[in-house]
This record gives sequence, C-alpha cells and structure tokens, in this order.
Amino acid sequence: MDGTKRVVLITGCGKGGIGYEYCKAFASHGCYVFASDLPDRLHDLADLASENVEPLELDVSSDESVAAAVSEVLASRGRIDVLVNNAGVGSTGPLAELNLDEIRRAWEVNALGQVRLVQEVAPRMAARRAGRIVNVGSVVGAVATPWAGSYCATKAAVDAMSDALRVELRPFGVHVIKVVPGAVRSGLGRANAERLAARSWRLYEGFEDAIAGRAGASQVGRATEPGVLARHVARRVLSPRPPRAIVFGHMTGLFAALAWSPLWL
Ligand code: ADP
Repeated sequence: MDGTKRVVLITGCGKGGIGYEYCKAFASHGCYVFASDLPDRLHDLADLASENVEPLELDVSSDESVAAAVSEVLASRGRIDVLVNNAGVGSTGPLAELNLDEIRRAWEVNALGQVRLVQEVAPRMAARRAGRIVNVGSVVGAVATPWAGSYCATKAAVDAMSDALRVELRPFGVHVIKVVPGAVRSGLGRANAERLAARSWRLYEGFEDAIAGRAGASQVGRATEPGVLARHVARRVLSPRPPRAIVFGHMTGLFAALAWSPLWL
C-alpha cells in the first residue's frame, strides 16, 4: 500500500455518467480512488478497477450502507482526503403531476445522500485538519426550470448546504467545493431528454439536440462531454488553493452570476 497517494471516495460512478469520468480523472492525478455505486451497478465499475481504482458498494440513500462503506475505506487506507458527492437521480415532470414517491427518492439520493456522507466523513477530516468535500449540484439549482422543479429543488438544497458547510468547516482546514455543471452529455441528461420527449413537452425545444451534441441547440446550451468536466474538476479540486465553486458549461457562468451575486461567503 502506498500511503502517499491521496485517497478519494466518489459516489455514483456507474458507466456512462460523470462519476465514472471523475474516477479516471482523479486516478490520472495519482490518487487512490474508491469508485462506488449501488450494488446492482457494481459490474459497471469492473473495467475501472486498477492499481489505483477500487470498486465499492455504496447506496447513498441508506445510513447503514454509507457507514459500512466509509468504515471499509478507512480500514483499508486509514483516511479520506477527498469526498466527491456525485450520486444522483433525475426527477422530471410537472410538479403538480409528479408522483410523491419519486420526489422523496430524489431528496433521499440527491440531497440527504450528500448529508449522510458528509456526516460520516467531515468530522474525521476536521480531526485531521485536512480534506476536501466536493458536492455536485447543477446550474438548475440556481435557476429553477419548469418540468424539472423536483430535481431543481434538490440541487438548490445542495447549493445552500454546500455554502453553509464551507463556512462551518473552514476553521478546521476542510475545503468544501460546490460543482455547478450545465447540460452534460451523460446519464441524467439523456434520461431527462428521453422522458421529456416521450411526453412531448415542447418547452425544451432543442434539449434533445443539446444532449446529443447536435448543432442548433438550444435553451440549455451546448452540452459538455463528461470527461472534459471531470478532468477540469479533478485538476481544480486537487490544486493547492481549491476554489469554492466550479461553474462549468455553456452559459452557466451567466446563470451563476445572476443567481449568486454577490458571492460573498
Ligand atoms: P449523471 O449525468 O449525473 O452522471 P447518471 O445517472 O449517469 O447521471 O449517474 C448517476 C449515478 O448515481 C449512477 O451511476 C447511479 O447508479 C448512481 N446512483 C443513483 N442512486 C444512487 C444511490 N442511492 N446510491 C449510490 N449511487 C446512486
């Protein structure tokens, strides 16, 4: 075991998503990465496994699973240097029609899932006076979008919690970094586009094009390749002075500037 490698725990690393790319990006910086996902997605992680990447079972919606996974990482490597709270589920449709169980699920995974990990990991980082916590939000958390109100609300919660946490953990040497991507050509983006298309909701004229990366898109802007986003995030998170927010993607800077001015915290 190489004790000098930074230990990174990433949630939601199934193939086709941004988490999968985060694993490759952090490993390419010489980190030792625990690539986690739900038990039924573990087969997805098999081809990521290497000298620097270890697949791990972790359901962020379960207290027991989170506690067990964090214990396993600590038993094996002794510490967590970087936590990447990436796991997420979509929730698309008009709020007035959306099934309440689906809304609850989105909160359990997208918002409370991050809190569960933070509660297990942050006190240990604070005790060592070192660590970085990366909470993945979305630009739609800053600018709520019709037909995605449920998902947007969970991402707005991520945004608010990350800001509070950043101030709470700063005295203990723990950096909290919120990641705010725009449209990304990955799992959730595709799933949302397909669901919207199936219902023929036309508000998102151009959304499918944006996700498919075709020309002529769109209200959500040009979609980013997940690998490009992941490499940018890994580089900035691991830099000596990590930023408090990483806003990435077409038009996202403008949305963020409107929603968070002034960024005074
Ligand atoms: P994105 O576009 O954000 O990458 P994906 O759907 O491709 O969207 O990725 C989200 C990841 O989060 C998937 O790998 C999915 O299996 C994972 N995920 C969803 N729910 C949970 C959960 N409860 N615990 C851990 N991972 C989860």
